[in-house]
Amino acid sequence: MKIAILPGDGIGPEITKQAVDVLKALNVGMELVEAPIGGAGYEKFGDPLPDSTLDLAIKSDAILLGAVGDWKYDALPRDKRPEQGLLRIRKGLNLFANLRPAILYPELVGASSLKSEIVSNLDIMIVRELTGDIYFGQPRGIHTNENGEREGINTMRYSESEIKRIAHVAFQIAMKRSKKLCSIDKANVLETTELWRQIMIDLSKEYLEVELTHMYVDNAAMQLIKNPKQFDVLVTGNIFGDILSDEASMLTGSIGMLPSASLDSNNKGMYEPSHGSAPDIAGKNIANPLATILSLAMMFRYTFNDEKNANKIESAVKKTLSHGFRTADIYSAGDKKVSCSEMGEAVVASLN
Ligand code: NAD
Repeated sequence: MKIAILPGDGIGPEITKQAVDVLKALNVGMELVEAPIGGAGYEKFGDPLPDSTLDLAIKSDAILLGAVGDWKYDALPRDKRPEQGLLRIRKGLNLFANLRPAILYPELVGASSLKSEIVSNLDIMIVRELTGDIYFGQPRGIHTNENGEREGINTMRYSESEIKRIAHVAFQIAMKRSKKLCSIDKANVLETTELWRQIMIDLSKEYLEVELTHMYVDNAAMQLIKNPKQFDVLVTGNIFGDILSDEASMLTGSIGMLPSASLDSNNKGMYEPSHGSAPDIAGKNIANPLATILSLAMMFRYTFNDEKNANKIESAVKKTLSHGFRTADIYSAGDKKVSCSEMGEAVVASLN
């Protein structure tokens, strides 16, 4: 098995190193090959997704990614910006299904911005479509319109087959959990999501055991704060999923705790923390590496079908938290404040 390691920018290299150390400590004999992406790709090859990196990703069984982006690249032409590397690799590998679990570990109840009775034992799964929607739809761009005024255009667009394949993933995940699926849309005003809702209803006939409900995205944003435990699996499009999963991260205490998996139709996947490259804390060795380490656990579960090593990593993270180790983002008075590398070392030490 070969894993492509793409550390990326900002805190990416710091957090990825901790996950790679965990992987090495598991001693599972995988080949690890590192390559640049994002700003690092641009610096080395003038391209946020160099051909050699895409080629490596295609030839690998799974990809572990840190994060991309830095404000210093904001003035570059759009196709050279780090985020384009990420969008292109997702599209290039057809990673259409993004799974973002939001789990609140009992030890971190105090780190959540909500009251403990609202968030304790929270365990929800957001299934986000990742390769379509307004982020990819054409036409797009900034033009001068007939009045001589500049105008920005993006297009929200989903084909039936794109909606069906993410719907199947979500229904199947719901089948393995509590058999409750909530589809998020804005069907009252957006035709794209009206189609989304119709297809969800059609497909629900193939999954009669799953209780399918629907919610408008604005209400979902509110309900996630008001009563998040009403949800188990949520499925939604690319832009709504982007925003709602960041919101859900705050329920769990820190975005530094949230892993993600992006899968193709054969469960080949790219695994990455849900957060960005956090340029504000990059290079300080204070970032939380747990989202990246938990992404590694998802790699074992979804791509390698290896529940044993997935559980081993997740148990090590729980043990580390129960021993009181906390990076700055989840620290409360009385905890043991540790750096990014010390947190990684503590997880490695908890593996056995
Ligand atoms: P961000 O997620 O990088 O940071 C948001 C806030 O969360 C910051 O205060 C940051 O310090 C904190 N944070 C994030 N990860 C953390 C961690 N592991 N430990 C502790 N604190 C953490 O989002 P942003 O500031 O909006 O974006 C910064 C850059 O990241 C931008 O260039 C953006 O385009 C990029 N970005 C990349 C990805 C990705 O690579 N998947 C996702 C989102 C944003």
